[in-house]
Amino acid sequence: MLDLAIIGGGPAGLTAGLYATRGGLKNVVMFEKGLPGGQIMNSSEVENYPGVKEILTGMELMAPWPEQCMRFGLKHEMIEVERVEKSGEHFKILLAGGKEEMAKNVIICTGSTPKRAGFEGEDEFFGKGVSTCATCDGFFYKDKEVAVLGGGDTALEEAIYLSNICSKVYLIHRRDAFRAAPSTVEHMKAKENIELVLNSSVKKVYGDAMGVTGVLTVDKEGNERDLNVPGIFTFVGMNVNNDVLMQEDGTSLCTLNDRGEMIVDLSMNTDVEGLFAAGDIRIQAAKQVVCASSDGAVAALQVIAREH
Ligand code: FAD
Ligand code: NAP
Repeated sequence: MLDLAIIGGGPAGLTAGLYATRGGLKNVVMFEKGLPGGQIMNSSEVENYPGVKEILTGMELMAPWPEQCMRFGLKHEMIEVERVEKSGEHFKILLAGGKEEMAKNVIICTGSTPKRAGFEGEDEFFGKGVSTCATCDGFFYKDKEVAVLGGGDTALEEAIYLSNICSKVYLIHRRDAFRAAPSTVEHMKAKENIELVLNSSVKKVYGDAMGVTGVLTVDKEGNERDLNVPGIFTFVGMNVNNDVLMQEDGTSLCTLNDRGEMIVDLSMNTDVEGLFAAGDIRIQAAKQVVCASSDGAVAALQVIAREH
């Protein structure tokens, strides 16, 4: 029986593990299906993590976190959690491959993943010219022209990053006002090789067996424009990863809001005793590394208070 199962190993899960083990919980496992670090590992530049004054890539920022957490006894199992169920007073963790674990407490830290934009050709060319990760795929377009879709922080930051590698970036956005932070908008506008394609959406992405060869956009008046680019990066928001809460009868283990986010109080308690949420998965998450990390600490302290 685990004292605590942490589902997800991003900033929230890692910090929950650090606080739980350092606070005296003995049997704590963090189930993370990939490498620990979370979605920030895909970011090319992080400049707002307090105390870190250098601009780091997400990978650089997260590199020391697992070692620091494991030092106090946190165990990482690299496996996907399929479902968390209530089993009497405790929880049953159903793992990929049919394995199961029991836990007294669970903190859900499964975060979020990029949404698909929904244009023609997006699924067909995903991974062959359509990407959601500039750090991963930007270099393939060195000295070439690319398109970026979206008007939030991620789209603008990644457009700036790509403008340093690519000869030109077309930033396609469906409005003429941006959701991104004003300083990021200013930074983006100062880049001479970013061309704005505003009030426009992507009608389709087309190509051949080798991958994307062009992006067809359409503006609000119905005017089409063909961009002759071999790649498009889409940053149109995130969906929360709440699959592990879905029960066999179609209900959720705890109450969610209409966006599928876990409803918690200020101590990260859900409406199920012993079940907590932390990070991007919870309601009103600020969607920042420092906030996810803070949630993880708060949730772990609640578990410690419950067990001691
Ligand atoms: P995540 O980081 O999403 O981690 C969730 C983890 O859970 C993942 O590792 C995933 O593999 C794992 N997981 C999910 N489901 C399962 C399962 N069923 N079984 C096992 N494991 C599972 N924030 C900032 O503060 N500053 C920035 O500059 C910044 N830039 C960003 C740039 C980009 C491109 C993106 C995408 C995000 C950026 N953010 C930034 C936001 C920040 O990354 C998130 O707010 C933060 O990572 C959320 O942490 P989390 O631990 O809640 O979730
Ligand atoms: P976001 O803020 O939700 O922005 C998504 C963008 O995509 C919006 O501009 C939206 O347009 C557009 N969009 C949505 N669906 C679309 C579609 N189907 N077709 C075309 N465009 C579409 O998402 P995000 O940029 O990924 O950011 C997510 C969260 O992480 C935010 O809270 C953000 O602040 C945070 N974040 C922070 C940082 C940082 O602090 N430096 C960096 C990255 C992310 P509209 O504007 O018209 O809605």
